[in-house]
Amino acid sequence: MILGNTAPHPEKVPYPIIRPRVHLQVTFTCLSRSIFGVDTHWGNGSTYVCVGPDECHACKKGQRPRYQGYVMGRGHSSGVVGIIHLTASAAGSIYELDAGERGLVGVKLSIERLGEKDNSEVEAHFLGWDASTEEFPHETFVKLMLAVFRVNKPAATKIRGLEFPS
Ligand SMILES: [Zn+2]
Repeated sequence: MILGNTAPHPEKVPYPIIRPRVHLQVTFTCLSRSIFGVDTHWGNGSTYVCVGPDECHACKKGQRPRYQGYVMGRGHSSGVVGIIHLTASAAGSIYELDAGERGLVGVKLSIERLGEKDNSEVEAHFLGWDASTEEFPHETFVKLMLAVFRVNKPAATKIRGLEFPS
């Protein structure tokens, strides 16, 4: 597992935020039932939540928001439980999984960064299911992610939280 500090406020939560680096796969079992998805911008040295085109200063300046998705996962080699950072393409391929009523809980995945840049797209590969996986509490996951993004009022933002079809 590779630990990174790409989320805006990782010090706010007691879990590492994990993202794949170039040429290094991250293999994990998903513990959250869905993906926490949010549109973001980058500015002044940090990532912040896009509040939607009507109110967002960055959008009004013509900057396109960038999707970030997150799931809770347990690393296969490390056993570490952390917040796994997904790009739009990785999240998109996970959406296509035919999940049952437990959503993504127990889905085994490897994610891999395509290309040579640290911000290039990430691809997810489905490795199977582990039916014995215990779910990470849904409400706790949401609270963690709102803390990471310092969002107090999710209704006032464009957070596409927990949007995996159930
Ligand atoms: Zn925006």
